[in-house]
Amino acid sequence: MDTVRIFDTTLRDGEQSPGFSMNTSEKLRMARQLAALNVDVIEAGFPIASRGDLEAVQMVAKEVRDVPIAALARARKGDVSAALEALKPAVAPRLHVFLATSDLHLSVKLKMTREQALEDIGAMVRYGRQHVGVVEFSAEDAGRTDIDFLCKVCRVAVDAGATVLNLPDTVGYAVPEEYGAMFTRVREFLGDPDGITLSAHCHDDLGLAVANSLAAVRAGVRQIECTINGIGERAGNASLEEVVVALAVRKESFGVTTGIRLDQLFPASRLLTEITGAQVAPNKAVVGANAFAHEAGIHQDGIIKNPLTYEIISPQTVGVPNRSLVMGKHSGRNALRMTLKDLGFEANDAELAEIYRRVTTLADESKQLRARDILGIAHEVIRRRPAAMAAESSSIA
Ligand code: MN
Repeated sequence: MDTVRIFDTTLRDGEQSPGFSMNTSEKLRMARQLAALNVDVIEAGFPIASRGDLEAVQMVAKEVRDVPIAALARARKGDVSAALEALKPAVAPRLHVFLATSDLHLSVKLKMTREQALEDIGAMVRYGRQHVGVVEFSAEDAGRTDIDFLCKVCRVAVDAGATVLNLPDTVGYAVPEEYGAMFTRVREFLGDPDGITLSAHCHDDLGLAVANSLAAVRAGVRQIECTINGIGERAGNASLEEVVVALAVRKESFGVTTGIRLDQLFPASRLLTEITGAQVAPNKAVVGANAFAHEAGIHQDGIIKNPLTYEIISPQTVGVPNRSLVMGKHSGRNALRMTLKDLGFEANDAELAEIYRRVTTLADESKQLRARDILGIAHEVIRRRPAAMAAESSSIA
């Protein structure tokens, strides 16, 4: 079975979106969890953006030794040099060069002709390859790029030494059939050469990032760029946990595997919410507080008889702690605090008191509570917090 590589860009595309910025030590904590998850590449930052970003990439490259580390650069010498400097300590560095290729971006944003774009792509990929073994090229706004020109772009990048070609739907405009067809055309044009990996990078403006990524896999793409909890520019990137769980649950249909340790998904999601203070929606697929909660009586009855009746993924598969908790009048708050910690929630005293009150009430009714029951309650109580904080900081600004 073919392997689809998972390129995580939580620390770059995710981190650059409002409310998700991380300092170096936070990036490092997250990078270690991404390594535990066994992602194939960690994109650690955009070194030209700031000195702090350069140092964060350097630190991740120094400390995380068993996963290739990527750094982003526009197709400009200053960008590429900064990325190369940041990647120096990496065991397996990957330079990620990008340039927009749609006529809209070329004429309005870059004020550049197609010919100049081809020249810069060739020059910067070649320059990068003089220093690192793996150069990935991204054609920004590929989803809205003239397909014949996009084929030419790919040819130039490959001839200059790029071995990974990423064709992003930068603005989240594509639909699955279209996005897959783009890759099919490019593969046919290039003649499917050995040693070249095609890559998808999708945004969720129409809620199609995961669907588009999966369509790309069907069209032969073997790298997917995605983020934990789907964080990223605007509506976010394709969510890593949704992509890998979809590929795992529907393995027969896709005929591919990933190297991801599924039981590290929930811990990764919770670590990111802890670092950024931004909770995921309760109904978020795979990692939401309600993803494994069953409210309706008919559903509960089915689940008790056999979980397969209403559950296509078991909570344990994706790492939701399976400790069932006997909560009653005699249970202590400390036990609850520990259970909340297992589930990724750090409650303050007032929140703990409120959760305790509701959990014991529920326990009186149902005797035994499971992790999934407590998840929903904790989420409801704690989610009020970041909203209040955001209101506070915006009034200061
Ligand atoms: Mn992006």
